[in-house]
Amino acid sequence: MNELQRLLSDPSQCQCVVVGSGKSGFAALKFLHRLGCKVFLSERGGEETVSRKVLAWLADKNVGYETGGHSEKVFLAADLIVVSPGVPLTLDVLNKARRAGIKIRGELALAASFVDVPIVAVTGTNGKTTVTELTGELFKAAGTKVFVGGNIGTPLTDYLLGQEQVEVAVVEVSSFQLDTAGDFHPQVAVLLNISPDHLDRYPSYEAYAASKMKIFTQQKKDDAAIVNGDDELITAQLAEKGGRSARFFFARENDQAGARIEGGEIVFTNKDNRTERYHIPPSLDHSPNRENAMAAVLAARLGGCPPEAISQGLSSFQPLQHRLAMVAQINGVEYFDDSKATNIGAVGSALSGMDKPVVLIAGGRDKGGDYKLLADQVRKRVKKMVLIGEASGKIAQALAEETTIEMAETLNEAVEKASHAARPGDVVLLSPACASFDMFNSYAERGEMFQLAVSKLAHEVSISD
Ligand code: ADP
Repeated sequence: MNELQRLLSDPSQCQCVVVGSGKSGFAALKFLHRLGCKVFLSERGGEETVSRKVLAWLADKNVGYETGGHSEKVFLAADLIVVSPGVPLTLDVLNKARRAGIKIRGELALAASFVDVPIVAVTGTNGKTTVTELTGELFKAAGTKVFVGGNIGTPLTDYLLGQEQVEVAVVEVSSFQLDTAGDFHPQVAVLLNISPDHLDRYPSYEAYAASKMKIFTQQKKDDAAIVNGDDELITAQLAEKGGRSARFFFARENDQAGARIEGGEIVFTNKDNRTERYHIPPSLDHSPNRENAMAAVLAARLGGCPPEAISQGLSSFQPLQHRLAMVAQINGVEYFDDSKATNIGAVGSALSGMDKPVVLIAGGRDKGGDYKLLADQVRKRVKKMVLIGEASGKIAQALAEETTIEMAETLNEAVEKASHAARPGDVVLLSPACASFDMFNSYAERGEMFQLAVSKLAHEVSISD
């Protein structure tokens, strides 16, 4: 029995408070209620922030709730507090509850404690969704029944609430979820990369990196840890933690053991010391998707998928929307939508994979990172930057010496200015390094607006031809 199974072994005696009424909070609430616990919902936002569906459920089940803040009385009466990933763990009420010895866990920890199939968990600053989806596809190609979800998408708790029985769960895991993961124990754990992000939520970069490393904490000798061998921070942290055995993947050439790229193929040595080779399809054959493909192949392989299924799954995988997706070619200029690049590391990797001059559209809501980290890449690859949104001034200040900069009021205007600056053979890349919320509802909406502006441009060009 793990810690939450123990705590919830007599559910009717267990008072649980769920903090946050979003997707994962609602799933946790329903699951705890179904177990037979006494449940209560605490939501910081006003009543209007709680969806009608949640309100109807609360009324139907006669479950109590509070909105517009969290009350100490409620928190201190709990046996278990389940927090949503967006809730800062430094809240006063949570500090008090922690001091009172009350367990504070996230929805992932709760669900994972009751899931009885192997878990493949994927974390990293960037590439989580891509690797989670791709790993899921590789398992499916092997005929394995698989749940794919987690941080973005379907909460793992939804699997417990449903009827379907799977053989493996592949979950995307964020650092916030790892902070409240308790004894979360993935049989296969993948750490893709660590670069500065969410510095508005963590006291330091070191603290953020330490959160990511928690994915390995509960792993046992026979479990698989899959790690980016090129990421010096990760390898240093692993060594510090006693150098536990891990499978590394390398994008750069080297002669160390592990998965690596060799002439369009992923090459890795299996546990019988035999070499396996996997062809990388053109859709994935560029950085950073090559690294993502290596990580997914390792995860699936070490999770038990046969090589033939992996080859088949790789060849049929379609890269995801808004992640370095080429959306048009107009007058010899390629337009890339990388709206999901909401941090500096993602932009760095997008630029390093480009072998053509780039006109970069960036900006949005600042997340506390240091844009100077992009200086080298911008100097080498970016002929012009067009900046939008709240962070435009800060980005301009950091990178003014590296390239020419223009400001734009709207994304439409930015696309127009970028298209004027681009010559045949160039790339126009939307890779914002910022969150979208200053101008859009989500990164997806920002990407769609970009694609719309680009298709308008294509239309104008076709009319004038
Ligand atoms: P996440 O779920 O971690 O946000 P995604 O797969 O959604 O990751 O990709 C987010 C952004 O990061 C995209 O802009 C994408 O181009 C970029 N990216 C994807 N994989 C990597 C990687 N391995 N290293 C760096 N950046 C990456």
